Amino acid sequence: MKIICIGRNYRDHAKELNNEVPDEPVIFLKPDSSLLKPGQVFFLPDLFKEVHHEVELVVKIGRNGKNIAQRFAHKYYDEIGLGIDFTARDKQSELKAKGLPWELAKGFDGSAVVSRMIPKSKLPPVQELTFSLQKNGVTVQSGNTKDMLFGIDTILAFVSKYFTLKMGDLVYTGTPAGVGPVHREDLLEGFLEGNKVFQCKVK
Ligand code: MG
Repeated sequence: MKIICIGRNYRDHAKELNNEVPDEPVIFLKPDSSLLKPGQVFFLPDLFKEVHHEVELVVKIGRNGKNIAQRFAHKYYDEIGLGIDFTARDKQSELKAKGLPWELAKGFDGSAVVSRMIPKSKLPPVQELTFSLQKNGVTVQSGNTKDMLFGIDTILAFVSKYFTLKMGDLVYTGTPAGVGPVHREDLLEGFLEGNKVFQCKVK
């Protein structure tokens, strides 16, 4: 499986990192070795000085597809969850300054937290979902999918022009504002429509 991530998909987050608002989706990948399954501990790598949480809505691809038309994209996913796109902000800034790819800052082991999945049919419409992240019991990020610059179906249509989507692939759809550093012993908890869907202890 592959993990497809969208960068700068919320205006307020693009602004907080002084990035321009993109005119087409910003795409990067994480390897399957980055996946941190529900309940697993995240071991903060010694490689970096500053690892940030980015809570994101995650879409699980339910059938294979290539060149998916936007109007049919909804047929390609039945399950939604939340995740964290852990980002080594120091490394990313260094790579960005040199115009180099971000993978070392984005694809390290454990950098893709994923929650349990919830059937789409049990949730409000996908572009009207609220989600949030608590760090040590305090809400640090909250978002609503209505604020995405590129909606889920637009993203799937765009990405599937380049990559064949396969059953089991995960799509991380971008983070709202409020990203910040994590430290050892932090407890991160994700909420989708008010329901806790993951927790992740940092060690
Ligand atoms: Mg992200």
